[in-house]
This record gives sequence, structure tokens and C-alpha cells, in this order.
Amino acid sequence: MSLKSKYFSFWVILFLVVATVASAQSGADVKPKNIIFLIGDGMGVAHVTAAKIVNGSLNMERFKIMGMHMTASANDYVTDSAAAGTALATGYKTNNDVVGLNPEGKPLKNLMEYAREAGKATGIAVSSILPHATPAAFSAHHKARYHYDVILDQQLNSGLDVMIGGGWDNFYPQSFTASRRKDDRNLMLELRKKMPVVTSYEAFAQIGKTYKLAAILNGGHLPPASKRNYTLGNLTDKAIEILNLNDKGFVLMVEGSQIDLAAHDGEMERVLAETVDFDTAIKSALDFAEADGNTLVVVTADHETGGLSFPMKSIENAKIVNPVFSSDNHTAAMVPLFAFGPGAEKFGGMCDITHVGKTLIELVKVDEQP
Ligand SMILES: [Zn+2]
Repeated sequence: MSLKSKYFSFWVILFLVVATVASAQSGADVKPKNIIFLIGDGMGVAHVTAAKIVNGSLNMERFKIMGMHMTASANDYVTDSAAAGTALATGYKTNNDVVGLNPEGKPLKNLMEYAREAGKATGIAVSSILPHATPAAFSAHHKARYHYDVILDQQLNSGLDVMIGGGWDNFYPQSFTASRRKDDRNLMLELRKKMPVVTSYEAFAQIGKTYKLAAILNGGHLPPASKRNYTLGNLTDKAIEILNLNDKGFVLMVEGSQIDLAAHDGEMERVLAETVDFDTAIKSALDFAEADGNTLVVVTADHETGGLSFPMKSIENAKIVNPVFSSDNHTAAMVPLFAFGPGAEKFGGMCDITHVGKTLIELVKVDEQP
């Protein structure tokens, strides 16, 4: 080989090496095995600010990639949880009150449906009743968020492997005293035919190896964080343990549902307790993802609730003494977005709420054959 052709080979090889490294780093093909998507209902920047000041530190601070998103629904600058949940679950906007359908009433395929097509296990863990708007958006398709009987029926038949939350009053037939059903079906019996069901945290904590589990832990929403002897983090740990038994990975949606309820009521102490409780679930997700190395964790809110702000003199000695709730409802303010793990960089910057759902679906969806 002449000296000239040796040099030529050297440059060809160098080019190939650089090209290979560059294409690997472009991230085009990087898909996480698992996704843990955590939604703080109503959790705006002010809610996080207050939790940081009062608690000292938050697991949310462990993220290095952050963004913000605009939350408007298809028919209002101020979204409700149904339309926002639908945008986060499907990547498309819909009208307020609607879960899992577009404004024309056509079903929108959600993240969990894509995940199951990819052979992944799916689960939800929330501190509200199971058929509440956010979990409904990930497991049902219906025109009215408060038609809990219809939504719950769809959820139980959706193929979710893990369902954790409150709401057994919505399961029992109308003849039962506390029942909120308008028919004689006993969904608890129907559910028990599909998977193990527990109705107390003690039974939940002791459950052995299982690939499926429903934990219906209260009649209505779960008790407020300050009145529970377990955290959303405890529920998240167990959900991950079960779903992680699937070789092809899993998608888990966790909702800190009651930050929103507390902010609607203008109760600062509750807002703080619920936000810190939500942060325990973030710890659980990040601890798992850091050890696993192939798990994407995304944290966001569906909208801001309360128009919460802290003017001068409203905070003293790390205590919120005089918060201002400018509304008892949702607002149009942008909300924070945090991401960690494979694909995390796609969530940096300012975007629309639909970008979050669309991107998660891109990362979970089975590649179409060329
Ligand atoms: Zn909400």
C-alpha cells in the first residue's frame, strides 16, 4: 500500500468513526425502556416555590432539564383537568370536560394504549378517585368527565396492569349505603375476576409477587397527605416494583391529585403538604431511574390552580404567612416541566402542553416498518 493510499484509508476510517459517534449522539434512536410520568394537578411555579421555601429541599431540584408549557385547551385559554389530561395523555387538545376524545368526539389514542402495543406493562397511581379527570384521560374516552360510571367501566377494561387510587364508593351497587353508582353493578366483584384487589394500605404493603394489582384505598379520594400513614412515594414504589417485572418495560402515570383541590379551597398548608407528598413520588421515580439507567422520568402539571402568589411580606422565616390566591379556580399560567433519563432533552424549553403528550408517545410507540 502506498503512503498516499494509507493516508486515504486513515481519513475514511476517521470519517466513519466520527459519523457513527455523531449519529449515536443525535439521540434519534434513543428510546427509554420505561417511562414514569408524574403530574402534579394544579401545581404551578408558585406552589413549587412555596414547597421549596418551607421544606428546604425538593427532589424536583435533582432534574437538570427543565421547560415550561402553555396549558390552554381547545376551547378555553384556561383548561380544566379533563382537557389538560387528554393533551398530556394523547398529544391533542380537546374541549374542557372531555376525556380522551377530540372536540368532534373521535377517540384519541393515549400513551397507555401505545405502550401496550409495544408490549409494555401500564399503570396509574393517583391520590384522587380512579375515575377522576387525569387518570381517566389515560384510560378512558368519554365526552363528560363526571360520568364516573361510564369512565370507571372503561378503565377496568382498558388493560391497565396496576391501578392505585381511591373511589370504592364508585364501585359498589347503588343498594350499598355509600354507593355513588346509579345502577346495580358491583365493579369490585368484576375487578376481582381480573386481578388481585386490596382495599387497605396494610394489605397493599404486604402483597407478594404479582403482575397485576388494583389498590382501591378509600371510598372517595385518598385521605389528604397529612392524614395518611403512607405517601404517594410508597404507592409509586410498589407500582414500579410490580410493573418492572415486565421484560419489555412499563409506563406508569402518577398523579399528585390533591394539590389542585387544596388550591381551589385556598388552603396553603394543604397545598404545601400535597406538593411535598407529590415530591415523595418524584424521589421514588428518580431513585429507580438513576439505578436503572433506561427509564425516562417526566414531571409536570396539567395547569395552575389558585393564581397563587407571594407578594412582599407574605413569607417570613421560611413560613408562608400571607399567601394570595387570586382565584378559586384554574388559571392560564404556564407550568413547569422537568425531565430525566433517555429522551429527557426533548422536554427542555418552552412548549405547548400537547408537545409533552406527543413526545412521550413518540418515545413509546413501536417504530413503523419502512
Ligand atoms: Zn387539574
